[in-house]
Amino acid sequence: MKNKTMKAAVLEQFKKDLVIKELPIPTPKRGEVLIKVRASGLCGTDLHIQDGRLPTIKLPYVPGHETAGEVCALGEDVNCFEIGDRVIVAIDILCNTCRFCTTGRGNLCVNLTRLGFERDGGHQEYMIAPATNLLKFNDNVPFEKAAIIPDAVACMYHAIKNQAQVRATDRICILGVGGLGFQGIQIAKHFGAEIFCTSRNDEKLEIAKKYGADHIINTSKQNLYEVIKDITSGEMCDAVFDNIGINSSIQTGLDICRPGGKVIMVGYSEDTFQAEFQGTAMKEKEIIGIRGSNRRDLVETIRLVEKGIIDPYIYKTYALDDINLALEDLKNGKSLGRTVLKM
Ligand SMILES: [Zn+2]
Ligand SMILES: [Zn+2]
Repeated sequence: MKNKTMKAAVLEQFKKDLVIKELPIPTPKRGEVLIKVRASGLCGTDLHIQDGRLPTIKLPYVPGHETAGEVCALGEDVNCFEIGDRVIVAIDILCNTCRFCTTGRGNLCVNLTRLGFERDGGHQEYMIAPATNLLKFNDNVPFEKAAIIPDAVACMYHAIKNQAQVRATDRICILGVGGLGFQGIQIAKHFGAEIFCTSRNDEKLEIAKKYGADHIINTSKQNLYEVIKDITSGEMCDAVFDNIGINSSIQTGLDICRPGGKVIMVGYSEDTFQAEFQGTAMKEKEIIGIRGSNRRDLVETIRLVEKGIIDPYIYKTYALDDINLALEDLKNGKSLGRTVLKM
């Protein structure tokens, strides 16, 4: 790969378009792998990054934290991978020494750095990742579907399986179904739950239905509380996933969850939320955080995708050259689900 160059989408200034540049293809160091990126997913977080809302990000750099590709060069001391392996790239680079890493909760690592955030990510033709961040997947799974496993799929998996501990007897609701929610429906279905989904967009609700939602509610036309009260005979939901993340959406979740139920904070777009003290405390309702996922969640989600139990939903693919258009579509709500750069 010496002296060769590649295309990369570089964020040079906040609040500005990314710039497609020719950069040298990097060489993997000890313990690292060079990956030929085949698909790189776009996330709402890419918009927050572009806006300069994430203080840890230093410019210029290459964003992109949902990556799938092929191993194409190995650094020294990399034994578990071969050239040509199909891999997804875990986002979190763990310190493996803090109390969270050593007790199986690496997603809470106190010395965390992340590919696509503090280090260059996947919006380029080749990227470097530590070998410890790679997980293989089989030929059944197309790269663009595999790409969204590390974030959109695994994050919902962690939220549903670990944070909410959803079971077959549960009724759950996903508020603001979309890029993550379409994956979440399939995961909750796998655990046997009865699923409500909300959106203000009928097209999104139709997709939700197709992927297994039992009840769809358009909150611009229907009264969410009344619909759920009616269908559940007043029992309400066991767990609510707030994929909206605005000031009022946690309370919306609390309103439709049963006493002792849980609201999981999946989405974020505003900095604070407001919730009722009495109605929450006296009914022992829980508001639960969630951040990313752990390696075990990635291993399990890959298996579920390989077996066809989860079919990652991609709304649209774009060429790397069209990244600014893709981000624009995401910002303007034109993307009804996850979108992916294909290379
Ligand atoms: Zn993301
Ligand atoms: Zn750590």
